Amino acid sequence: MKVPFVDLNAQYNRYKSEIDRAIFGTIEEASFIGGAAVSTFETAFSAYTKAEHTVACANGTDSMEMVLQALGIGQGHEVIVPALSWVSTAEVVVSCGATPVFVDIDHSFTIDPTKIEERISDRTRAIIPVHLYGCPSDMGAIKAIADKHNLLIIEDCAQSHGAKFNGTPVSQFGVAGSFSFYPGKNLGAYGDAGAVVTNNTDLAKQVRMMANHGQPRKHEHVIAGRNSRLDGMQAAILNAKLPHLNTWTEERQSNASYYNEKLQDLPITLPLCPAGREHVYHLYVIQSEKRDALMKHLANQNIGVAIHYPVPMPLMPCFSHLGYKKGDFPVTEYACDTILSLPMYPELSKEQIDFVADEISAFYA
Ligand SMILES: *Cc1c(COP(=O)(O)O)cnc(C)c1O
Repeated sequence: MKVPFVDLNAQYNRYKSEIDRAIFGTIEEASFIGGAAVSTFETAFSAYTKAEHTVACANGTDSMEMVLQALGIGQGHEVIVPALSWVSTAEVVVSCGATPVFVDIDHSFTIDPTKIEERISDRTRAIIPVHLYGCPSDMGAIKAIADKHNLLIIEDCAQSHGAKFNGTPVSQFGVAGSFSFYPGKNLGAYGDAGAVVTNNTDLAKQVRMMANHGQPRKHEHVIAGRNSRLDGMQAAILNAKLPHLNTWTEERQSNASYYNEKLQDLPITLPLCPAGREHVYHLYVIQSEKRDALMKHLANQNIGVAIHYPVPMPLMPCFSHLGYKKGDFPVTEYACDTILSLPMYPELSKEQIDFVADEISAFYA
């Protein structure tokens, strides 16, 4: 049996007629940049996240960077980010001229709120919690700290479409939420795509202008912006897919429960999501002391596995000028040495999960 890490074709085959109609409709209407499909998606995604505004843009990195810029975060400012994430989270802080300040994670793989306050200085302007793998960060504790120190919260929701903290959707705890629709994300386009979600009308206006060359109206460039518009075709595909997102989330959650059941007696650590946080399992990540050997064993059995991510952000060469060293982020460093992402997508079958679990058991036998 072959178990790919993700299977985007399985999803395409499942919804082929709807997706083909979206793609060919865009071509027939020649609605390639912006247009009705983009506005339709923005309205639908606002309803989905319970936000007042969605501004669609080119990708999830731009969405975060534009929010920081629009909020006036730049030179001389510091932004707190978790030590474990996809590089974008810290990269955007550097891109806007500010300095990322890293904080270790806890056992949920999200930022450890008990380690945030010691890293706050008079230059700190914002915190970017990342709902990594689909598990919401501890937004109650983070919001209390942000309120006490007058800091902005920008949520990195790139892996957490539909996740909730105490019943409230992620993206609703700070000034803005940033989403990615990279093809492999829980809601994925057929290319790059992203969005800013916010209840702040001025911020929405500012980001919309910024994403379209700083023009509120054609040929009126009031700020030096950029081109970060969403393609009409990507929006049409997202419109076809969004109505199915809740079904896919349930399928991911049920796959995760089945993995939990099958793997519970093995000497590995299963993903833990504290009570009150609804995990949407973008990734199903276990921890093993014998990670590298286990990974090799599974790969040899045609099981797709991956590491998200092998290097703590503060120890990446691109952030070496900040002077962090090995030992500064013990929980993140241990995670990077032990984490393993198993195959996870809505269409994954019970038989495939059985096969993965049996092979993990065989490895430990
Ligand atoms: C994917 C991702 C991003 C960036 O999104 P792109 O659309 O690829 O630019 C940012 N943060 C996290 C945590 C991600 O997983």
